[in-house]
Amino acid sequence: MLPRERRRLSGQARKLEGPDVRSSRVHRGTWTTRRPQAATTRSSAASGTPRLDDVAGLIKREDVDAVRDKARIEEIVGEQVTLRPAGVGSMKGLCPFHDERSPSFHVRPQVGRWHCFGCNEGGDVISFVQKIDGLGFSEAVEYLAGRVGIQLRYEEGSGPRRTEEPGKRQRLLEANRIAGAYFAEQLLSPEGAAGRAFLAERSFDRNDALHFGIGYAPKGWDGLLKHLRGKGFTEAELTASGLVSQGNRGIYDRFRGRLIWPIRDVTGETIGFGARKLYDEDQGPKYLNTPETALYKKSQVLYGIDLAKRDIAKNKQIVVVEGYTDVMAAHLSGVTTAVATCGTAFGSDHVRFARRLVGDTSAGGGVQLAGGGSSGGEIIFTFDGDAAGQKAAMRAFGEDQKFYAQTFVAVEPSGMDPCDLRQARGPQAVQALVEGRQPLFEFVIKTTLATYDLDTAEGRVAALRAAAPVVAGIRDTALRPEYARMLAGWLGMDGESVLRAVQSAGRGQGGQSSQQRGNDRGRPSGTEQSGDGGSRLPGADTGDGFQRPSQSDPIARLERQTLEVILQYPHHIPAAAVDDLPGDAFTVPAWRAVHEAIRAAGGLATAAQRQDSEWVGLITEECSPPVLALVNELSVAPLPEDRPGAIDDYVQGVVRAFVELGITRKIGNARSRLQRLDPVTEAEAYNQAFTDLLTLEQQRREIREQGARD
Ligand SMILES: [Zn+2]
Repeated sequence: MLPRERRRLSGQARKLEGPDVRSSRVHRGTWTTRRPQAATTRSSAASGTPRLDDVAGLIKREDVDAVRDKARIEEIVGEQVTLRPAGVGSMKGLCPFHDERSPSFHVRPQVGRWHCFGCNEGGDVISFVQKIDGLGFSEAVEYLAGRVGIQLRYEEGSGPRRTEEPGKRQRLLEANRIAGAYFAEQLLSPEGAAGRAFLAERSFDRNDALHFGIGYAPKGWDGLLKHLRGKGFTEAELTASGLVSQGNRGIYDRFRGRLIWPIRDVTGETIGFGARKLYDEDQGPKYLNTPETALYKKSQVLYGIDLAKRDIAKNKQIVVVEGYTDVMAAHLSGVTTAVATCGTAFGSDHVRFARRLVGDTSAGGGVQLAGGGSSGGEIIFTFDGDAAGQKAAMRAFGEDQKFYAQTFVAVEPSGMDPCDLRQARGPQAVQALVEGRQPLFEFVIKTTLATYDLDTAEGRVAALRAAAPVVAGIRDTALRPEYARMLAGWLGMDGESVLRAVQSAGRGQGGQSSQQRGNDRGRPSGTEQSGDGGSRLPGADTGDGFQRPSQSDPIARLERQTLEVILQYPHHIPAAAVDDLPGDAFTVPAWRAVHEAIRAAGGLATAAQRQDSEWVGLITEECSPPVLALVNELSVAPLPEDRPGAIDDYVQGVVRAFVELGITRKIGNARSRLQRLDPVTEAEAYNQAFTDLLTLEQQRREIREQGARD
């Protein structure tokens, strides 16, 4: 939805934007042309000279290791995915790389790795950044190095060098950073008065502007252009940044004579701008945003997400408002989970992103009916009370019903948006608006009913006819009968006839409806695999070249558990116990391949000298891609033991059981050999085999006794 025409207000609300409000709520002298100290925050501190020289060379190995070690994977991943504890040392959330409703994306911070049991993607913190931002390896390392404050060094002769295309991320971020600082400074210039007045009319003061990084783009054609050229940016880079437009006589500033909102990603990097026109003579659209660039994808961008992210995850709630000033008003009113789309409707990419942040929402279905709340996360939309706004609301919910049970609508009866509301009635009114949210279906059905006169029998019948298809269209089979009952209540009709009307409306919608219903019960095939950690199809060929054994095979299971603890808790295991295992200790080919990689990496003797987080990385260097995927999966897999104090016992127990299994196997071999030997004609060999057998049995006894002692 477009950041909307602010003047589309009732006369009452319009009056409130008049001069009296301005003088009473915003103190004169709030705005000065003196550059406030706080303006030298992130943007200008980070800008300085463009980093022409820091792009992809060959980064020194130690530095890559240092970055990997210092960048906390749960933090970096946590910016994109809300993670919740999942057993000891393990966290999980909704996978950002495939569409799912129950979390199968696991992170094991101690080991420094992530793995999705749904789509089988996985890796370390660097590969996560690469994948989520579409970066090359060096770029991802550079980004993380910047985050954790590590100065990278490059191999002699290989770098630093300038290999990047003008559209590359670091340069674009730099251009946006510098542009943001430039605009913010211009807001305080004499020409910026129009922008300051716009803010003041809406009761935003200088601190608010600083908080949101608001700026002003001067009317001239090349103010920013000259500024960026002076910082060393080329024409190609400027074009790629979306900050300039292409005209007949070259490039010129895209934003002119406008108030500017920097649009940032979850990590707080400015990736684009939203700009509102301030002057009547401006022939352009009311709102103008950065065009699609390598950084700015409007279908994914949410204004305010950098500020709202933490509270969205904490409160399991995201509030979607319509415009930049609504986001500001909401945050300043204490609704710190507010975001807005930029120049587009809230689409499927936004939905996925929002659900990932809100967390596992699948549990919420139906629960909302009881008290208006939801046990899962909540996505709350605020819309205008007017017909156009409601229509837009209903259209916004088009075909994708996946998150409907967690979707709520907050409508202000008099049609005021959060920005108006804050001005007219103060911050509490904005909070009350959000608190008064109603479930989406309720909103849609009641909106439908509102157009009929329910005081007459004819009106009620017509209303039922109009509302029944809405209820029939609810694909969640648990919710549909609930709403049919509620509809009966709202209409004051008996439940039976309403149910019949809904059923007949459902038939009217054809086979599509039943197909959708089926889809809703089971998981959509293909797109969403099992969400439970480790419960991949037993015995299935996973496409990575290994036949995976059934989980019900106790030996295969023990082998898997042994590898899990070797990868996850190397320091809890006596090195010799594992390093003495022969190459054929594992019988399942997939697990044997992992064991080979462990041996190639030097075994637990090597692990003893390394951090847990380095250990798996060393092993992955010894792996072919199919084995790497296995290593990754095992190193992140949740363990059956979920009591922190019991992990050590679990690890020891698994290893002991596995070692014992190996000895038992040898004992079996020794026995059968003994039976094949003739104690008379082959006395020497027989005696040797007999001694071996006794030794093995003694070993097994010791292990069992040790287990009983611990
Ligand atoms: Zn996945």
